[in-house]
Amino acid sequence: MKIGILGGGQLGRMLIQEALKYDDEFHILDPNSDCSCAHISHFTKGNFNLKEEVFNFGKEMDVVSIEIEHVSVGGLEALENQGVKVIPNSNIIKIIQQKILQKQFYQQNNIPSPDFQIIQSTDDEINIAFPFVQKLNTGGYDGKGVQVIKDESDLSKMWNEPSVLENLVDIDKELSLIIAKNEQGEIKTFPVTEMVADPKLNLLDFNICPAHISDEVQNQIDAIADQFIKSANSEGLFAIELFLDQEGKVWVNETAPRLHNSGHQSQEGNANSQFEQMYRILKNLPLADTSNFGFSGMLNLVGEDHQTGTVKYNGLEEVLKLPNTYIHLYGKRDTKPGRKMGHINVLAKSREELLQQLIHIKTIVKVVVD
Ligand code: ADP
Repeated sequence: MKIGILGGGQLGRMLIQEALKYDDEFHILDPNSDCSCAHISHFTKGNFNLKEEVFNFGKEMDVVSIEIEHVSVGGLEALENQGVKVIPNSNIIKIIQQKILQKQFYQQNNIPSPDFQIIQSTDDEINIAFPFVQKLNTGGYDGKGVQVIKDESDLSKMWNEPSVLENLVDIDKELSLIIAKNEQGEIKTFPVTEMVADPKLNLLDFNICPAHISDEVQNQIDAIADQFIKSANSEGLFAIELFLDQEGKVWVNETAPRLHNSGHQSQEGNANSQFEQMYRILKNLPLADTSNFGFSGMLNLVGEDHQTGTVKYNGLEEVLKLPNTYIHLYGKRDTKPGRKMGHINVLAKSREELLQQLIHIKTIVKVVVD
């Protein structure tokens, strides 16, 4: 089967890596002929934001999917009209691409998400209470395009662009749930994971599985997952990012319609990984067992500050000496501050042991220039 993926980053790379044990052809469309997937796939250099290029790439495929959501929805619609299977469908990608549509989707489908207001520009009257979070309708990723407006004195720093203004949640924990649905309608979730963010870069740092949450919180999350997958009306794999607030209530922050950083520890920590699950969705196969083997965690390898150029990983040999520790690099030649270059997965018998190991590894590995 010919599987076409828009985007050739690390998510596509790890999907191909997992799926190589089966017999399929992976085709990648990406503007960068040196991207993470370029040398391990049938590669087409092109712009996945252009309708024509998406259509021309996809029309030869049996199924087309994404590993980045900022792609031409028009191109995907044209493929669907031509009878090419697109997973997830163009409609849910369109909704998720735009923060405004995404928030309205949660509201219309009774999915709890922080209260919000929409503005088209800073000329609009603001009627949400301080403090609030401004999120650009389009163009934000990895914490960019998101800022907290604390009080009146912050108003001057607001971006003059269509945005969502959202209540600032008093966060206890950031959680993530990955849910999968195939064409037959089979649905499976991975165990909830818990994130520990780097306050400086806003990039996810550690991701721990399973999350330390009560049954009551788990029930709220199950209800959200159920409601989300019914409302999304699409097969696919989705990562729902959640906030647990100080009062014990769960809110949806946002959803990614694709493989996600918060699922990487499933590579060694679960009976099957998110990548195996994605492959099975693309082929409409029975979904995989997602249960976890104990405690697992992941730490992102991101480029250090002030380091731009050919990458070098300090300390990896030390890490290779550690038991239950697995290195994954993304095939990127150049590092820059905050760039995700790889990750390390760790398995442990307890949450305490896991956190200790992750913190230890973080102190020995550095992503710098050669
Ligand atoms: P991105 O898509 O760029 O990752 P997010 O919407 O996930 O942006 O926001 C990045 C981070 O900002 C979140 O992980 C969270 O820590 C913080 N954040 C976002 N929205 C809120 C909110 N409503 N209340 C409190 N913190 C928030």
